[in-house]
Amino acid sequence: MPKVDYRLERWSLDDLSPGLESDEYRDARQAIDQTLQAFEGQRARLTDDLTPQGLFEILQAFDGLQRQVSRYVGFAYLRFAEDTQDPAAQTMRGRADQLGAEVGNRTLFFTLWWKALSEATAEALLTGAGDYRQWLLNLRREAPFTLSEPEERVINLKDVTGRRAIVALYESLTNRYTFRLKVDGQGLELTRGEAETYRYDPRPEVRAASYQEILRVYAADERVLGQLYQSLVRDWRNENIELRRFASPIAVRNLGNDLPDDIVETLLDVCREKAAIFQRFFRLKAHWLGVDRLRRYDIYAPIGEAHATFALEAAVGEVLGAFDAFEPQVAHLAQKVLDQRHYDGEVRRGKQSGAFCATIEPGLTPWVLQSYQGRPRDIATLAHELGHAVHSLLASGHSALTQDATLPLAETASTFGEMLLIDRLLASDPTPEVRQALLFRQMDDNYATVMRQAYFAVFEQQAHQRIHDGAQVEALSDLYLETLREQFGESVELSDDFRAEWLAIPHFYHTPFYVYAYAFGQLLVLALYQQYRDQGPGFIPRYLEILRAGGSDSPIGVLEKAGIDVRAREFWEKGFGVLERALEELEQLGAPSRSRRGG
Ligand SMILES: [Zn+2]
Repeated sequence: MPKVDYRLERWSLDDLSPGLESDEYRDARQAIDQTLQAFEGQRARLTDDLTPQGLFEILQAFDGLQRQVSRYVGFAYLRFAEDTQDPAAQTMRGRADQLGAEVGNRTLFFTLWWKALSEATAEALLTGAGDYRQWLLNLRREAPFTLSEPEERVINLKDVTGRRAIVALYESLTNRYTFRLKVDGQGLELTRGEAETYRYDPRPEVRAASYQEILRVYAADERVLGQLYQSLVRDWRNENIELRRFASPIAVRNLGNDLPDDIVETLLDVCREKAAIFQRFFRLKAHWLGVDRLRRYDIYAPIGEAHATFALEAAVGEVLGAFDAFEPQVAHLAQKVLDQRHYDGEVRRGKQSGAFCATIEPGLTPWVLQSYQGRPRDIATLAHELGHAVHSLLASGHSALTQDATLPLAETASTFGEMLLIDRLLASDPTPEVRQALLFRQMDDNYATVMRQAYFAVFEQQAHQRIHDGAQVEALSDLYLETLREQFGESVELSDDFRAEWLAIPHFYHTPFYVYAYAFGQLLVLALYQQYRDQGPGFIPRYLEILRAGGSDSPIGVLEKAGIDVRAREFWEKGFGVLERALEELEQLGAPSRSRRGG
């Protein structure tokens, strides 16, 4: 690998535009107007005479428009992310949003036309669609469950004052909540986000108080929040089962994710069967904290703190080294982000918090943002975001409509990249503190992403059924507690206040069954990683094939082409094998030293 001098600095957006006030940026806006007008002219071609070749040309025009808009809007977004306090960037971001909405509205005729075609006509036109095929198929996926136009219009109209109004009501009610905590003798009045940060506090009494206060406030509104939920669930059933004829409440989401029902059931089944792994982890955590049994309040308690700091150069060396040892091409692609100065790792005031990788369009190397502070978790984040970038670059042979991986595969390269890094760091025999920090972080994250989310979905499935059977709100809280008992077994002391936790999960209200996608994506990568461990280099071409596919096929299609059978239980069980290995490593690290702060 060529040695490059990496510094923490602001990224360069020159590949997008010289600046918000530049002539080029103004011209880009005008060019979009012209392309948009030209595209509207295509409407005349949408007749019975349209040939597959004709459709392909229209799709190319649409693709070109998307790229132009993406560059324009992307620049505004990235400029805003680098300095959220810059008034010019704030204004431009707002205008970019407006442009996005306008483009959406003015091109709606095209997607509506496509969705409304008869099955036979669509089938015939698809023959010439090339790389756009999957995008077109995605648009038509809901066709078998679509009602007549007047019926759809009535549903849309009534949703505004129906389910959307109920969700809005839930949001307004719960967003007004304030939470009172006493910390260091000081009375605090906090938002939920602020109160939740105390779950990670080293002091056990502070962690407990944080949970108790949040649960107390939600429980006080149990009746009304529960009623809102019951209405949403009944509406979900009336519309999707009674009218649209879906097989089950979760099948609606499965169709959206393009995942077959049986695979989702297998995933949830295997998760329930493997709950014991995290129960073992919680027992180990109790031991490290020096208590007999963990309380539910303690599951995110910090274990030690790794003070090791890695300069950016060293971090980049570790990440690229891990990628390179796997497959040089992967390292080479990740390095493009750094070499082209598309990486912003500097810690600055006003910069957007968190981390992301932004793919603008297939012709451009993605941009990566984080606030790099040299902790082990920052290196893991660097590997994660660069993994996203590698995924995009490998899929850059596709159109702007089919480059991005579908939701179930969206975290594949990022999580896999993190795994590669963690394994490399562990193999380099770091200090016990760094080892411990890496492994605990891995287990904590996987608990929150896999097991917790899977049990959320289990609760939702049962809750939908019980509400249909006439269950009262209190019965739903009891049901929730039951799912927690199954999840934790005897490993965690579960207090009754957690009955109310489900009232505080917004996903249940605004996007039913969304939660399992987290578990699916994460466990999928763990399973792939285990295949890599088992098969060695022979696995690599199949892995690269998955990434190269981007969003050009259904998630199952992509995996099947790479020879991966996600229908098999053993596949998912293998994913848990990775976690078992991490847990064994942790168990072998031995007893904590006395100086460590526990609780
Ligand atoms: Zn990610």
